[in-house]
Amino acid sequence: MLDEVYAVCRDDTSGAPADYIPELAAVAPDSFGLCLATADGLVYQVGDTDIGFTIQSISKPFTYALALADRGLDGVAAHIDVEPSGEPFNEISLEPDSQRPSNPMINSGAITAASLIDGRDAADRFERVRRCYSRFAGRELTMNEAVYESEARTGYRNRAIGYMLRSVGIIDVDPDDAVDRYFRQCSIEITCADLAVMAATLADNGINPRTHERALSTSLTERVLSVMTTCGMYNAAGDWVTTVGLPAKSGVGGGIIAVLPGQLGISVYSPRLDGQGNSVRGVAACRELSRRLELHFCHVT
Ligand code: GLN
Repeated sequence: MLDEVYAVCRDDTSGAPADYIPELAAVAPDSFGLCLATADGLVYQVGDTDIGFTIQSISKPFTYALALADRGLDGVAAHIDVEPSGEPFNEISLEPDSQRPSNPMINSGAITAASLIDGRDAADRFERVRRCYSRFAGRELTMNEAVYESEARTGYRNRAIGYMLRSVGIIDVDPDDAVDRYFRQCSIEITCADLAVMAATLADNGINPRTHERALSTSLTERVLSVMTTCGMYNAAGDWVTTVGLPAKSGVGGGIIAVLPGQLGISVYSPRLDGQGNSVRGVAACRELSRRLELHFCHVT
């Protein structure tokens, strides 16, 4: 089945890798990997599933998860709402009344989530983020220094968002520290196979099905998956829910994860992006898999 879906999607070479972070353009544009991991630990893969690339926005649900574990549902909700924004991921926007970012899957919410991570100092806080992602992946992940430096050098818009959040009191720590942690988390290097296991860990109620280590509590996993359902695919969220029907998250590095709770995680890597910043072949492969395996959460047999 994976081989067939791979073959159906492979020839679509439309779209282009992100280049607004200079180092992101340095990838092999036609790489394509597809992976499916079950909640009982089996991993099926085809194509370029071992190529390292940066997690980018797929980091957002995982830092949100750690913020929830550190601060609790209410502690985080005081800073970040859970409403889809219908806006681009890097929109400089806050909700009119509460001043909170609409959700943790856009940059303003993600930078706020990064500000809520506990730790002794900046190094310790990022180390806790790195270890959290590693528990989800089941191996020690590291940061890609070149991508981090490239993003830190050019990330003025994200700094603007951080300063705006600090000015309205949504971030109550040093905004440069929160934005720097966000740049670092986006630069964590993963493979398509890693992402499938991270997705399967969300599918398995927060327990990594390969290592059997708990990465997140069951109730917080439910919260993270809920927000991924409504907000995970930027302003394509409605289109995604109607055609794929799974909680998901994409990143401008070209990765996408999708989760069928209790059953499986899917990951795709293909760096050519569409106009909304989602991987072209990633969206196509998820649609095709959802249709063939009847994964849509509204599907009735
Ligand atoms: N690091 C990227 C940014 O904030 C992540 C964006 C993304 O993957 N959509 O610009």
